[in-house]
Amino acid sequence: MVRVLVIGGGIAGAATALALHKAGLDVAVYEAHPDSAEDLGAFLTLASNGMRAVAELDASAAVTALGFPLTSMRVLDGAGTELALVPLGEAADPLLRYRCLRRGDLGSGLQSEAVRRGISVHHGARLTTVQEDTHGITAGFADGSTATGHLLIGADGLNSRVREAIAPAVRPLHAGQRVFYGYTDTATPPAGDARITMIRGSAAAFGYTVSPGGETYWFARVSGEPLPADEIASGTPAGWRELLLPLLRDDATPAADIVTATADDVLVTNATEIPTGTPWRSGRALLVGDAAHAASPATGQGASMALEDAVILAKCLRDAPDTDSALSLYEELRRPRVEHNITVSGNISRGASAPSPARRDAPPSRPGDDELVRLLDWKSDVWATARFR
Ligand SMILES: Cc1cc2nc3c(=O)[nH]c(=O)nc-3n(C[C@H](O)[C@H](O)[C@H](O)COP(=O)(O)OP(=O)(O)OC[C@H]3O[C@@H](n4cnc5c(N)ncnc54)[C@H](O)[C@@H]3O)c2cc1C
Repeated sequence: MVRVLVIGGGIAGAATALALHKAGLDVAVYEAHPDSAEDLGAFLTLASNGMRAVAELDASAAVTALGFPLTSMRVLDGAGTELALVPLGEAADPLLRYRCLRRGDLGSGLQSEAVRRGISVHHGARLTTVQEDTHGITAGFADGSTATGHLLIGADGLNSRVREAIAPAVRPLHAGQRVFYGYTDTATPPAGDARITMIRGSAAAFGYTVSPGGETYWFARVSGEPLPADEIASGTPAGWRELLLPLLRDDATPAADIVTATADDVLVTNATEIPTGTPWRSGRALLVGDAAHAASPATGQGASMALEDAVILAKCLRDAPDTDSALSLYEELRRPRVEHNITVSGNISRGASAPSPARRDAPPSRPGDDELVRLLDWKSDVWATARFR
């Protein structure tokens, strides 16, 4: 049986483990974080395409136990005028509805599901070296331990160590924005049931939603040079509020009040992307998720794309005649779609195009949308389908 080492137990890694296990491969996950990492702060929205991938992994129950659904999106301008009120994705299907949840909860929920299915998940295993020979590939960890398999999947995120081994010259790029996000249970903005509100403010793109328990989740994307890592590490909630509030106060929207009402739960990061054309593969090692194709957060698709990766990679390995053909087919199917997301999201973050979907017409399509349902469908043979396209 093919033994697969998955490096990273976040969304991409845990989902890849579930998918490979479902495809009958022997899989183990190696995660640097000492425990489940459920304390990781940011929240995200999983879109219907991501929820469809979750369903194909038989993990809908695990994921719908987390967070809350979103069925509509309202768009306001800086004057507070409603520009659009649109349904979100496949809102009619409870399993495919957009879902708002904390990133750490999603990663740890998928990890727990992996453990429940008998997959080994090793915590505190920080990959430092990758070595390959004709028989296999060996991962070396910071504590001196090693693991050997036939294939190694780098699901170790934006600053991937596996990517360093595959493509040492590649550097993540700043996508032109700083992203603030936070939580407060003392704000009372107009909410609407299962709705996310996006505000095209004069100096910031702001979004918020209110959970069924009354907690407001919000983010703000503002243009600017990257904040240095030491400034991010030493920043305080009060300092971030002071930086952000002047950019929100001129608008007649709930944004400034929400941020003012947020006490300690304010976080900041830089919008970062992986350059398109980055090599994903070398011999027995392959990158998935953010390690391969992190995009700026503007389109809100990074986690959904990682979940799609997991299902399609497992189907390629299940259906193709050999591993080499499987990995080539995987890249052929995935690269146009995920790189389109990097480009579109980067253009929005850099102000080169309007955010979407904010209009009354349908959201823009992405490469592969028309065949996505078939590609994700666990029962369909991806090799046969791809060869007869
Ligand atoms: C502010 C912000 C908002 C976002 N909003 C959305 C959104 O609304 N919707 C959406 O779909 N996406 C969103 N994203 C993107 C989404 O968070 C990522 O695409 C997603 O988390 C990628 O998952 P991943 O598993 O590839 O990487 P990660 O979540 O980064 O997981 C990587 C894992 O690898 C582990 N690891 C790292 N190095 C090593 C090592 N050397 N050895 C072992 N393990 C290692 C890490 O501890 C981590 O657990 C957002 C991102 C940001 C920054």
